[in-house]
Amino acid sequence: MPVGTQGTVKAVAQDVLESLGAEIILGNTYHLYLRPGHQSIRRIGGLHKFMSWPRALLTDSGGFQVFSLNALRKVTDDGVRFRSHLDGSSHSFTPEHSVDVQIALGADILMAFDECTEYPADRTRAQESLRLTMAWARRSLDHFRAHCHEVPWFDPKGCCMQCFGIVQGGMYRDLRRACAERLIEMDFDGYAIGGLSVGEPRELTLEMIAEVLPLLPKNKPRYVMGVGYPDEIEQYARMGVDMMDCVLPTRAARHALLFTSEGRLNIKNKQYAEDQNPPDPACDCPVCRRYSRAYLRHLMQASEALSGTLNTIHNLAYYLGIMQRVRTSLESKFAVSPSDR
Ligand SMILES: [Zn+2]
Repeated sequence: MPVGTQGTVKAVAQDVLESLGAEIILGNTYHLYLRPGHQSIRRIGGLHKFMSWPRALLTDSGGFQVFSLNALRKVTDDGVRFRSHLDGSSHSFTPEHSVDVQIALGADILMAFDECTEYPADRTRAQESLRLTMAWARRSLDHFRAHCHEVPWFDPKGCCMQCFGIVQGGMYRDLRRACAERLIEMDFDGYAIGGLSVGEPRELTLEMIAEVLPLLPKNKPRYVMGVGYPDEIEQYARMGVDMMDCVLPTRAARHALLFTSEGRLNIKNKQYAEDQNPPDPACDCPVCRRYSRAYLRHLMQASEALSGTLNTIHNLAYYLGIMQRVRTSLESKFAVSPSDR
């Protein structure tokens, strides 16, 4: 899932995302709550309509940004108080409030409010954090079930939103297992593994995913949050992960880093100044079909707005292409004849 933090996947228009084959994108609750405000988006008819995105949308709970952007937050059993990184104004998110905001935004999938345990965290700290996450998961789900019909549009079929729970537990396998078991009892529509890619070594990320993934129901989506590099997302997808999101392809693109079939390419490097090859000779994205490394380097050097756009389009095409190949290989591996369906 490309990340569309503020109702936009930075630098790329919605029609381009569609043409690249993006089926679902992510919106950040924290940012949209602060600006333009969830009530404003509700009155407009929801985030789909506001940003003219007819395909699927997932919103996070806002928790991750509250914890990562706010040094002055105050966490209690009830929720978390924080100051806006925009103007310093005081706000609070509780599980109920986070769910209300997400219902107002009207995404297809919303996430339970959780505390993303920092790394490193000792066992006592991870346990305490997990206690909050599990209590907040229960409250998020109860509130979601009571209010999910309050979508910002008239829907004769009733609520079609889904709520996913998030497995936390730091880097402790037993805590992770305990959390997964409790969340499964609550019967969420899907399950995420959160609190990864927070600075831990990659072997540990893999170890946590390998521990939790087999416990999660196979008939529901399994989502690993905030990963990863191209080889990681392929590895996790082959392990059975259904969904992932990461700012890496878009953020790296704006900072000159292109992911290609030949490895990482820093388009700012002088060696590309007169290189007339496409960014990735094996890629058939609109950027690689049309432009050279020399041109992309020039745009970057000149700080032209088109630079971020073209780099991002290629990186997203590369990421989406990886997932497309994984899907195709899984489809042939598990091919079923029409009569078996
Ligand atoms: Zn390309």
